[in-house]
Amino acid sequence: MEQKKRVCIIGAGVSGLAACKYLLERGFQPVVFEADRSIGGLWKSTSASTRLQTARWDYQFSDFPWPEKVTEVCPDSKQVMEYLESYAERFDLVRHVRFGEKVEGIEYVGVAEEEMEAWDLWAGTGGAFGGGRRGVWHVTVRQEEDGAVEVHIMDFVILCIGRFSGMPNIPTFPKNKDSEVFNGKVIHSMNYSNMDSTAVTKLVKDKQVIIVGYLKSALDIAAECAKINGPRYPCTMIVRTKRWNISQLEAWGIPINYMYLNRFSELLLHKPGEGLTLSLLATILSPLRWIFSKFTESYLKKTIPMKKYDMIPKHSFFQGVASGLLAVLPEHFYDKVEEGSIILKPSKTFEFSKNGVLIEGEVTPIKADLVIYATGFKGDQKLRNIFISPWFQKVVAGTKDMIVPLYRCRECIHPQIPQMAIIGYSESISNVYTTEIRARWLACLIDDGFILPSKRKMEKNILEWDKYYKTYSGNSSECYRRSCITSVHTWYNDQLCKDMGCNPRRKKGFFADLFIPYGPTDYVGLELKK
Ligand SMILES: Cc1cc2nc3c(=O)[nH]c(=O)nc-3n(C[C@H](O)[C@H](O)[C@H](O)COP(=O)(O)OP(=O)(O)OC[C@H]3O[C@@H](n4cnc5c(N)ncnc54)[C@H](O)[C@@H]3O)c2cc1C
Repeated sequence: MEQKKRVCIIGAGVSGLAACKYLLERGFQPVVFEADRSIGGLWKSTSASTRLQTARWDYQFSDFPWPEKVTEVCPDSKQVMEYLESYAERFDLVRHVRFGEKVEGIEYVGVAEEEMEAWDLWAGTGGAFGGGRRGVWHVTVRQEEDGAVEVHIMDFVILCIGRFSGMPNIPTFPKNKDSEVFNGKVIHSMNYSNMDSTAVTKLVKDKQVIIVGYLKSALDIAAECAKINGPRYPCTMIVRTKRWNISQLEAWGIPINYMYLNRFSELLLHKPGEGLTLSLLATILSPLRWIFSKFTESYLKKTIPMKKYDMIPKHSFFQGVASGLLAVLPEHFYDKVEEGSIILKPSKTFEFSKNGVLIEGEVTPIKADLVIYATGFKGDQKLRNIFISPWFQKVVAGTKDMIVPLYRCRECIHPQIPQMAIIGYSESISNVYTTEIRARWLACLIDDGFILPSKRKMEKNILEWDKYYKTYSGNSSECYRRSCITSVHTWYNDQLCKDMGCNPRRKKGFFADLFIPYGPTDYVGLELKK
C-alpha cells in the first residue's frame, strides 16, 4: 500500500482541531504545530465576560453535541474552552499536537515560480499532492522552550493560524497626534483579554477609560469597565462605524435565522454560479429582502434606544448580516448607557492629546488614563508573514480593490499556491459549523476524493464570489472588506457536498428543506450517505 503523505496543520484552535480530526479519519497522521501551550486558540484568552454570539446548537461540531449541563443559549468562553477540550479528548487529537512549536516560515521547494504560474491545474494536476514534478513544503519551526529550530518537510500544509488573533490592528496617526504625546496608557484588546480578572480590576478601577471600537470585544470590555467603575468613572466608546448590534436573535417574535439564514432567504439573492432560473427568482423576490431588513430594523429601533444615542447605522441590517459585521450586545448594555457608566461617541477619526483623546466635532479632548484599542486584528498580514517567498506573500491575501482576498476556491484553496489550504479565514453564521464542513471537504480532497477544476475556472468562480460580496455587503471602504458567507451558507455547503459526491439535501420534506435553517447536525454522517 502506498505510504500516506506527510501533512501538517499550523494552529490548534477550532480550525486546526477540525482539520486534524477529519484527516485522522481518512488514515493520515497529521502533525499539528501549535505555538501556544494548549489547544483552543483565541478562546484560551478572551475577556472574562465574553460569551458566544452564536447559539450553541450552531457553534458545535456535527457529531459532538454540547453536554446536557450546558443550558445557556450562548455559553461563555470558559464553557467553549471546556467543550473544545472534550472534543479534542473524545477524538484523541491532543497527541498529534506539538505544543510550544511556532512555525516561523514555510517555503515551497522544488518547482520554480514561473513553472508554477504556467500550470493550468492547481498543483500541476488538480489533486492535493500534484504530480511527478511537484514540490514539497519546508516548514521551519522554533521550539519555545530552548529556541531550537527544525525544518520539517511536508507534502501538504494546512494553515489554521486564526484571522482574529495574534497580530493586533493598531490605528495610525499623523505625527504629534499619536499615542506618543499621551500621558496615559494604551493597550490593545488582545493584551486586555490576556489578563485575569484581578489584573483587569487593578488596571481599570477608578480610571477614565476610552475604548476604540464597537464590535464584540469593544462591547464586552466596555461592559466590564462599566461594572467595575459605574457612572463615577464612565467609560467612553469611540464609534467609527455604527453597527446593528442586537440584544437577541429574533425580531417581533420571529427568529432572525428564518428571515436571513435558510434556503428560502437564499432564493432572494443572486448567488455565485447560479443558473438562469435561480437568477430570475432572485430578481423577482428581491423586494422581500428589503422588507425583511426593514422589519428587523423596526424591531431593533423599538427595543434598543439607538436613536436616542445617535447609534443608528447607515447601512441596512441585511448588509450587516451579509458582511458578518454585527455583534450581540452584552446583557443590560444600554442600561449601562442610560445610567451613564458607558458613553457612546460616534466619530470617524480621533487623535491623542497630552491628557486624553480629541474626537471629531469637539474642541476639548475627552480625558483619559487608559485607551483600549478594540480595533481587530491584521489577519491578512499574519498570513503573508508565514510565507518566506515574496511571491507567495504578494498573492496570498489578494489586492486592496478586491474585497475578497484570493485565498478561496471553496473559501480555502488559493489557485496559485499548491499543496496548501487555509481554514478559518472566511466567516459564517457559526465558525465551528463552517470550519468543520470545510475540513471534511479538504480531507476528501487530500484523500484523492476529487480533483479541483482548472485554475482559470477557480479564478472565475472567485470573481463571482467577489461580485456577490460587493453586491450584498456593500462596496464602501468603511466596513466591508470581509469574506463572510453567512447569507448563502447552505448554497456554499451544497457546492462542497457536490464536490464530495454527497447529497446536499439533508432535510426530510420540501418545506423543511426550504424553510428550516441548516445547521451542524444536518451534516452528521455526510460522507456515508451519498
Ligand atoms: C472575542 C471573539 C468572539 C467570537 N465569537 C464567535 C462566535 O460567537 N461565533 C463564531 O462563529 N465565531 C466567533 N468568533 C470567531 C472565532 O475566530 C472563531 O469562532 C474560531 O474560534 C477561530 O478559530 P481558529 O482556529 O480559526 O483561530 P484561532 O482561535 O485564532 O487559533 C489559531 C491558533 O493558531 C496558533 N498559531 C498561530 N500562528 C502560529 C504559528 N506561526 N505557529 C504555530 N501556531 C500558530 C495560535 O496560537 C492559535 O492557537 C469570535 C472571535 C472573537 C475574537
